[in-house]
Amino acid sequence: MSEVIYTAWKNGAKFDAWDEAKKQEAWLPAFEEHGLDPAFYTHRQRRTDEVFPWEHITAAVRKNFLFQDFRQSLEGQIRVDCRLNCFACGILPTFANLRRENPGEGWKCPDVKSPSQKIDVELPVVGD
Ligand code: SF4
Repeated sequence: MSEVIYTAWKNGAKFDAWDEAKKQEAWLPAFEEHGLDPAFYTHRQRRTDEVFPWEHITAAVRKNFLFQDFRQSLEGQIRVDCRLNCFACGILPTFANLRRENPGEGWKCPDVKSPSQKIDVELPVVGD
């Protein structure tokens, strides 16, 4: 795929995320030149256990949570606002310290418990 991107760039592709800069005529020949089908990347059904190209980027939301949203959207359902009902999307374990440092209503996410502290206790010796 990197060869396709490089070739598309050489064909004039630049700032493709902007509608006015989109150049199909740069991309399609690049895919063809390297024997790849763009539909494989854009229009095929994906398996849930597949590693997605963007998985190295994380906002801490669990992949399974996103799939639940996806499945619901296919059925025309919308998840209610999570500020009204937390769905444990997965961000709190990642941002637990930040959440603890910012208690209260500002975050709208549930509070996070403080980690249990180790307490040294001297126990009496039994049987003396
Ligand atoms: S309330 Fe916070 S932790 Fe719960 S689902 Fe929403 S963003 Fe995630």
